[in-house]
This record gives sequence, structure tokens and C-alpha cells, in this order.
Amino acid sequence: MSQGIMTHSAWQTALTQLDSTAKLMMLPEDVHQTLRNFDRILTVSVPVRMDDGFLRVFTGFRVQHNASRGPYKGGVRYHQEVTLDDLKALAMEMTWKCSLAGVPFGGAKGGVICNPKTFSKSELERLTRRYTYAIMPIIGIEKDIPAPDVNTNEQIMAWMMDTYSTNNGYCTPGIVTGKPVNVGGSLGRTDATGLGIAFTIASAIKHKKMNLKGLKVVIQGYGNVGSAVGKFLSEMDCKIIAVSSSKGGIYNPKGLSCDALINYYRENGSFEHFPHAEGVTNESLLELSCDVLVPAAMGNQITQENAGKIKAKMIVEGANGPTTTEADQILAERKMPVVPDILANAGGAIVSYFEWVQDVQCYFWCEHEVNTRLKNLMDRSYEAVYALSREKKRDMRAAAMMIAVKKVADALLIRGIYP
Ligand code: GLU
Repeated sequence: MSQGIMTHSAWQTALTQLDSTAKLMMLPEDVHQTLRNFDRILTVSVPVRMDDGFLRVFTGFRVQHNASRGPYKGGVRYHQEVTLDDLKALAMEMTWKCSLAGVPFGGAKGGVICNPKTFSKSELERLTRRYTYAIMPIIGIEKDIPAPDVNTNEQIMAWMMDTYSTNNGYCTPGIVTGKPVNVGGSLGRTDATGLGIAFTIASAIKHKKMNLKGLKVVIQGYGNVGSAVGKFLSEMDCKIIAVSSSKGGIYNPKGLSCDALINYYRENGSFEHFPHAEGVTNESLLELSCDVLVPAAMGNQITQENAGKIKAKMIVEGANGPTTTEADQILAERKMPVVPDILANAGGAIVSYFEWVQDVQCYFWCEHEVNTRLKNLMDRSYEAVYALSREKKRDMRAAAMMIAVKKVADALLIRGIYP
């Protein structure tokens, strides 16, 4: 139901994307090599006293890619398949995402290898507090600011904030973003990634001279991101024709009601037997005829096996890393537009930046202000990427990467190498 876990090739994909961008831009080799490497990688052990009295020791990480443009920023994920290579790919992607959006942060990512679905609430709290304590030496309001990601949420951010604050001796809301609103969170943060994706789709179809009204959209993954995309697109008069969770999906060419979907999933834990809809597998959902396909679930979903069979007019990446390098090539040959993750799903990172700004100033904005500012940044990024892709006759991913990498490379060059 949420953005998810990639296979081991995620890191290879991230490196290939950087290498081909470096070649296209004729990036100086020393800058290229610096960006292929990481500022810091921390591995920690996280002992947790479980409810049955036994002690279990989990492994956690915090990966900091590059801070040339500002403090490190990025989510924390809890998953049994978390690997250091995935986190490296995701941390690097955060550097590009923040750079492209013009928010003054570098990239980071954290994670703990565990299956939080088997934990009680108090076990989850103890795990979170001990992990936070373990990474405390390298995080800070001006150092590295964690946020939610796969299987982490605002409650977990509140525990992280409390652990950091308690150890510091004073309240430090800006240490994490994605917190509950009454402890320094920002209005609009929960739905920001989904709203940003909806804004991106609106920009993309405007250039294709298509209409939002009746636009047929398929969403893979209906968690925090996917369901918000469905909600905002429905409000924009689009037609959500298929959605899925990890257990499978449903399809109705006449459109599905987003409110009914959320209520049904809440009650049943899956979309199975959803009324007036046909069941589809997650694989066949990707191959349905539609105007826009939004993969908003796992990484590595669009592969060389299915890229040739996708019938959407456009793909807008809601998840991080949903398309493999091989699939990207096939889609490019088929001239299928792909709006890349670092552009399309930047809304969460952008509103995280707004939350951090509000925390630092202790002055909070209304939701309208947050969403208006989000729209401005999303639209500005989209137009810049679209213009460069036309100018250079390259796909949107190449253009987005060129803009993002250039800003980081310029910062690195102007700051120089210490000593
Ligand atoms: N986890 C989100 C992402 O991958 C948000 C990160 C953040 O807000 O720092 O974009």
C-alpha cells in the first residue's frame, strides 16, 4: 500500500542515471566521482526489549549523500527487505529531488531492517526511540532532518522528535518533518506528495493538449501517496479507473469512487470483492489502457518484461524508482512520456522544507499558503524540465537529472574541496 522496496538493482539504476547525466553534461570527472560517493554512511545496532521479555537486535542505517546545497534531508523506512544499497540509491535520489525543486537541502535516507507490521505499538516506539538515539550524533536541525517514508508516519516522527528533544534538554520540533500539526508539523504535509503528483499531471496534460475532465487514470498502490493522488484527481474531474494494493487491484472503466475505495480498504484490508469492479492483478493493472499511469507502490515495477506492454499515454512516477534502466530505454524507444520521480513526487520533500522553515521561525502558515507555495514550486520545476527536454531533445528524466546535478555540481565547485 505504500512506496516500497526495490531489488538490488536500485543502486545500479541510480549510478547509471548519474553516469549518463554526467556524460551528457560533460561533467568534470572529479565532480562526477565526488557525486558517485557518499559523505557519510552510518550503520547502527538497535537493541529492543520485545513485549515477551526477549531482546532483539535490529540493524539500522543513516546514509548521507551530499550536503553541498544544505543540510541532509530524507525519510526513514522500516522494512524487512531494507538494504544499504537501496538506501544509497534513495539518498542520492533525495539530493537530486531537493536540488531540482530548489529547496536548500542535500540528500539522505535512513532505515531499519524489521517488519513493523508484527510489532506492538510499544515495541515500535522502543525501536524508534533507540534508532533515533543511535543516529543522534549525525542528525540535527542544521545537519540532517529525517522524515516519514515506507512504514513510518507522523506518530513515529513525534517519537523521534521527543527522543531527540529529551536528550538535548529542550524542545526541537525542526529535527524531523512530517510530524503531527500540534507539535510543529505543517498543515498540508500528509497529502503533499499526492497533491504534488496531481499538480504534475495537470501540467503534463496541458502540454499534451489533453483535458483533465474525464482523464482516465490508473494508480498502482493506494496508500498515503496513491490515495491522495486519487482524491485530488477526482476533485479535478479525472476518472480513476483502476487502483491496487499489494494484495491486488480492481478496475471499472466507468470510474471508481475515491471515498468508497478508502472506506472499503479501511474495513476490509484489501480491494477484493469491491462492488461494481472487476478484479485485476498488480501486473495486469500496469497494462490497462488509460491516459495516465501512476505507479505509486513499490520500486522496480516497470521492467523490461512489461515496458513493451504498457498502454498508457503517459507515466507519472509517484513511487521512488518504479522504472528500471532497461524499461526506461524501451519506453523511450516507444516514445512514451515518463515524468520522473524526482520531479513528480517532490511534493513531500517540498512541504517538508516548508515545515522546517515554519519550525525554525516558530511561525505557522495556513493550508492555503502551503498548497499555493507547493504549486508554485511544482509548476516551476515542471516547466524548467519540460523546456530543457525540448531544447536538448532528451526525455524528461534526462532533463530533470541535468538540472538537478548541475545545481549540486555548481555548489560543490564554488565551495571547493576542504582543505
Ligand atoms: N520520504 C519522502 C520522499 O522520498 C519525503 C522525504 C522528506 O520529506 O524528507 O520524498
